[in-house]
Amino acid sequence: MANQKTPTKLFAAGEPIIKEGDEAQAAFVIEHGRVEIWSQRDGKPVVLATLGPGELFGEMAIISSAPRSANATATEDTLLWVITREQVSTRLESSDLVVRLLFNVVLRTLRNEMRLFRDKNGDEDEGIRDEVILGDFLTDDRDAVEKIKFESSLRRAVKENGLDLCFQPIVSLEDSRLRGFEALVRWNDEIYGTVSPEDFVTLAEETTLIEPIGRWMIEQACEHLVRFQREGGEEKIFMNINASGKQLAVRDFPDMLIGIVNAHNLSPEFVKVEITESIVVDNESAMEQINACRDHGFPVVMDDFGTGFSSLSYLITLPISTLKIDKSFVQLMATNERARAIVEAVVGLSRKIGIQVVSEGIETREEMEILRDLKCDFGQGYLFSRPVPAEIAMEMVRRQSCDI
Ligand code: C2E
Ligand code: CA
Ligand code: CA
Repeated sequence: MANQKTPTKLFAAGEPIIKEGDEAQAAFVIEHGRVEIWSQRDGKPVVLATLGPGELFGEMAIISSAPRSANATATEDTLLWVITREQVSTRLESSDLVVRLLFNVVLRTLRNEMRLFRDKNGDEDEGIRDEVILGDFLTDDRDAVEKIKFESSLRRAVKENGLDLCFQPIVSLEDSRLRGFEALVRWNDEIYGTVSPEDFVTLAEETTLIEPIGRWMIEQACEHLVRFQREGGEEKIFMNINASGKQLAVRDFPDMLIGIVNAHNLSPEFVKVEITESIVVDNESAMEQINACRDHGFPVVMDDFGTGFSSLSYLITLPISTLKIDKSFVQLMATNERARAIVEAVVGLSRKIGIQVVSEGIETREEMEILRDLKCDFGQGYLFSRPVPAEIAMEMVRRQSCDI
């Protein structure tokens, strides 16, 4: 058997590499030489394949943990690269559930065909062993099937207008006046009920669905903003939209955004793009997209500040116009002196460098008063209003207040 310590192993001409029925520890890639894959049929060896440099063999048994299903013999002096079980299993474990499901189904079909082939030769043992091993995949399969169903429902929702946008007020803390909204997407499904964006935005990001969802969300947000600005007071209402990393990864995001905003005759200064730090970590392209948004005149908001890395360097390298202090931080503040001191410092520092501050997740009057005393510019949270449908948001705009 191959030596696990070295990545290569030499076999002389005629030397067996793999024996049918053996436990599998490794797969191989041929560096040079030639290998015959063969099996017994009616008591005679039948060659299934002859492989040369660059070709891979022995992978099936290490993927499925089943015994070897064929023999491999070097037909000339052969040098092989050894691929260990861990190399394969760690990759499989980190791969997408659905890909794993499809992979397992194909593998099962293949092994069943091989079993039929072997059964003809009177060897039934192998087949029984396969059943036991393949049983391990079932839990994973169910999760994967659920995921496919969930994704299909989301696809249908995107196609058939099953998504909704709601709006959460952002108020000026000084006088509690309504100043803008954050647009938040909702999915109401007949099977799954109301699904939180946290649960489906991630799935949408794993597929290409984030693109149509993002575009639809921006179009809707702009359409409503036009009406809000028309019905609102002198001071124009603004709209914050969330841009995920995958949305920004699409090259034409800034162009798409300006295209939609222009088509609605809106000024980009009233459409603010919320990003999180995680988007830009080690991502040059996202940085470029964010700069392009700023160049088009869109204010850029750093969301969830206080979580993650909270690196102050992004306040220098990114064109941030507003900082949004995360709700977890805001909610600590009432009972934690240090949290309060940090918020105070962040507000002070932001003011010095000309950045506005929004505190999100304000649920109590006490939290609001602390933030007002700290001279934080804006607030958002259940105390003022939960995210509401467009008609209610419109009513708030007309009254210039969240109290309706
Ligand atoms: P986020 O950007 O941090 O949005 C704020 C979330 O906090 C919203 O949850 C909002 O309903 C919730 N929230 C607001 N006030 C309070 C409060 O006082 N207390 C508490 N406990 N929560 C409050 P939601 O709507 O479930 O959205 C969750 C996340 O999903 C958002 O977090 C955002 O990251 C993402 N998301 C929502 N809509 C979109 C979208 O259109 N596009 C993208 N890419 N992501 C979105
Ligand atoms: Ca946000
Ligand atoms: Ca946030």
